[in-house]
Amino acid sequence: MGRLFAIEIIYRGIYQKTLAKNISRAIVLAAHKEGKPGISFGRYGDSPERNGIPAKSFAIVATDDLTLEEGMAKYEPKEVDVTIAVDDTLCKGVESWAWYGLQPVNRLLKPGGTLIVTSRETPEKLIAMSHRKDHPYQLAILKGTPSFSGLWVYKDDHTDVRILGAISRVLPELFSLKSVQAAIQDEWKDPVKSESAARAHERMTTVTVNPNQGNPEIPYAFELPKWHEMGEGIAIPCIPAGGAIADPETHVEGGWRPDRNPTFKKFATRTMRPVVNFDTCIKCTLCWLHCPDSCFDVTPENLYDANMEACCGCGVCEAVCPVKDCVTMVNETSFSDNSSQWEAWRKDKEGYKTWLNEKIEHRPERSHGFRFLGQYEEQVPEMLEIARKG
Ligand code: SF4
Ligand code: SF4
Repeated sequence: MGRLFAIEIIYRGIYQKTLAKNISRAIVLAAHKEGKPGISFGRYGDSPERNGIPAKSFAIVATDDLTLEEGMAKYEPKEVDVTIAVDDTLCKGVESWAWYGLQPVNRLLKPGGTLIVTSRETPEKLIAMSHRKDHPYQLAILKGTPSFSGLWVYKDDHTDVRILGAISRVLPELFSLKSVQAAIQDEWKDPVKSESAARAHERMTTVTVNPNQGNPEIPYAFELPKWHEMGEGIAIPCIPAGGAIADPETHVEGGWRPDRNPTFKKFATRTMRPVVNFDTCIKCTLCWLHCPDSCFDVTPENLYDANMEACCGCGVCEAVCPVKDCVTMVNETSFSDNSSQWEAWRKDKEGYKTWLNEKIEHRPERSHGFRFLGQYEEQVPEMLEIARKG
C-alpha cells in the first residue's frame, strides 16, 4: 500500500474562490511532476458559495493509483497532512452555510501535521484564536495581508505560489520546490511567481503548538435529526419573536432582542466587526434598518447594539451611519470574544471609550473585494514587496 497525502484549503467563499482553486490545482500539478497521481475538488456542501462564508477545497495525492482510488472512496478526508487557512480570521472557527456547527480550523490535522496561515499576526495571537487540539501540531505563518478578491476578478499578489513554496518546505515528501517551480512554469509561465515560491520555501518556519495551547472553548455543535426521527412532511419551525433586554446596571427591562437561528450563527463569516460609539450615536435607526441579518439589538434607551453572535461583518452599518466614526469596522483578529459592546459601555463608559479608541486607531487594512476602483492595483505592489522581503 502506498502513501496518501491530503491537504485542505480553507477559504472565504467567493472572495478567495480563485485563490483556493489555484492552490489545490497546482498542488496536484506539482505532485504529477514526481509521478504521483492526485485530484483536487471543492467540498460538495459549500456549493453554491456565499460571500465570505468559510468553504473548503481539497487536494488528494497518492504514490500510486490504487492508493488514490482508496483515498477517494471517502467523500471528504477524515484527516489531513496540511491545513491551509488563507485568511487568519478563520482560526476562530469554520462554520459552513451547509450547517456543520462551528468546526476548529485545525480539526482535521493529523498529529504533527501543519497549519499554514496567511497573516501579519504573531504565532501567539493565532494560537490563542485557534481551538485546542489533543495532540501537537505545527503552525507556519505565511507573512502577508490575507488576499481577497471577487467572483470575476483575481488579485494576483502571489499568495497562491507562496503557499505552494511553503508546502514544499513543510511536507517535502509530497513534492520538492523544483517540482513546484516546474508546475508554476507550466501554469503561469512567470519566473517572478516561481521566485516568490522559492522565497516562501526558504523563509518558512514553524512553531509547535502543544495540547495545552489555544482556545479551550468547546465549539458549538448540534445534532442533525436521524432518518427515523424525520416526520412525513416538512415543517420548518419559525424563529420566535424575541424579547426585551435587561439593563446590566439598573436591571430595568426594555428594548428588543430578536431571537435568532440557533443552528447557523454566521459569526465565522466575519473578517471585520463593527465597533459602535454609543456616546455619539444619534439613534437614527439606519444601521438597524439596513443590517441584512437583523443583527442589531435595540437597547432599553434605544441605542443599537450589533450582536456579535449574529453579525457576518458585511460593513453595511458602517457605510450607512451618518455620524463620523460612530460605527467603525475593525479587523476581527483584534477581538477575543463575542460579548455585547453595549453592556461593556453601560458598565464602564470611560473604560469603553478608551477600548474603542484603541480598537479603531489600530484598525488594520482589510477589505472585502473592491471599495474603490484601482484598489487591487494599489494593494498588489505592497504584497509583492512583502513576498520579496519575506
Ligand atoms: S457588519 Fe453591521 S450591517 Fe453587517 S451584519 Fe454586522 S451588524 Fe449587520
Ligand atoms: S446608524 Fe449610527 S447614528 Fe444611526 S442608530 Fe446606528 S449607530 Fe446610531
